[in-house]
Amino acid sequence: MQGAHSKLTRNIIIAMIAAIIIGIIFNQIPQEHFIHTYLINGLFDTLGLIFIILMKMLVVPIVFISLVDGVCHLSDVRKLGRIGVKTIGLYLITTCVAITLALLFAKLFAVGSGAHLMTSKTFQLQQNSMSLKQMLINSFPQNPIEAMANGKMIQVIVFAILLGIAIAVAGKPGERIASFINDLNSILLKFIGMILYLAPYGVFCLIVTQFAQTGVKLIVELFGYFMVVLLVLLIHVTLTNSVLLVFFARLNPLIFFRKIFSAMIFAFSTSSSTVSIPVTLTTVENKLGVKNSVAAFVIPLGATINMDGTAIMQGVATIFIANAYNLHLSVMSLLMVIVTATLASIGTAGVPGVGLITLAVVLQQVGLPVEGIALIIGVDRLLDMVRTAVNIAGDSAVACIVGKSEQAFTADMFSKNI
Ligand code: ASP
Repeated sequence: MQGAHSKLTRNIIIAMIAAIIIGIIFNQIPQEHFIHTYLINGLFDTLGLIFIILMKMLVVPIVFISLVDGVCHLSDVRKLGRIGVKTIGLYLITTCVAITLALLFAKLFAVGSGAHLMTSKTFQLQQNSMSLKQMLINSFPQNPIEAMANGKMIQVIVFAILLGIAIAVAGKPGERIASFINDLNSILLKFIGMILYLAPYGVFCLIVTQFAQTGVKLIVELFGYFMVVLLVLLIHVTLTNSVLLVFFARLNPLIFFRKIFSAMIFAFSTSSSTVSIPVTLTTVENKLGVKNSVAAFVIPLGATINMDGTAIMQGVATIFIANAYNLHLSVMSLLMVIVTATLASIGTAGVPGVGLITLAVVLQQVGLPVEGIALIIGVDRLLDMVRTAVNIAGDSAVACIVGKSEQAFTADMFSKNI
């Protein structure tokens, strides 16, 4: 079993590197060539999309069953409140750190200041367009089936928690259902395992298509912006997570990264934290040793509200656009960016490219031209891949910390060499 795990990870890494190289080579071939028509946009794109659909198929069942399973086996329901407070607290803190780092580095490198663009509109400070009241109301499902059908993750999470609590306090009928749910959870984990065997091929098809279509040409034009986002993503994912792991949980970050790496590649190739939930969850439980009672709550919630990577892109993009249009952001505006980007990243769904859309909220909030987004759209696809990997790494680190603090953590499994 151990050998199979590391072989799979190795194959996924090989698939990713091969796909990037082959994709960049294919990008040199004219887009009308039959290689693009039949191979890239035909075969590889189709197989990649089928792979994503297979993973998506499991997201709602795994989040729901795994969370009900986790909650109904919690010895003490009050624990849930504590886990919730710690998780959300850590998510907010890490996102604030991420965006602050982004603003600092973007200012330091003065990204976008060579562009000197003009804007026709007059921009004023606008009121916050996100209603907290609405966000809160929308967290509760009127119809849980509809919430599942539409993949409304927060609503599914709320329903699963309430159902789990009801099962836990229901006596004999509750015990019967709890053991059934537990069996169902084991079956779903096997199901994910089956699909994971296809991961190297799926990852190859997704990445080769992406690089064959985008190439690296665009990066050259937006080199400064691209590199600063990449640099901050790298600093945050390694430093912030390491500090948190060492400081709060006394865990070795190197082991953490070695074990989480294949899940990060998976997030990289799908550009979606949500689609990656089954993989992140199984990695956190089976490799890092976080027990289901914590992981089943922390990971789906993180995939929905914790977007450190997205916040970083939004921070650098805000400074880039301000500089490109020669607009000055006051200290108050920068603080506003931190608050709004944190809220915006909570509101960003864990699917490809949404971070760019919620960036509009941040720009509007500080009175910057929303059309500035057009400047960075070209390189966003590639950055989206990297930031999604950073997003799920943050979720996993928080899962370890909360798991350890709640004694829902198997230290042996964490240090075991798999
Ligand atoms: N693709 C990102 C995610 O799924 C969200 C984004 O930044 O667009 O985590």
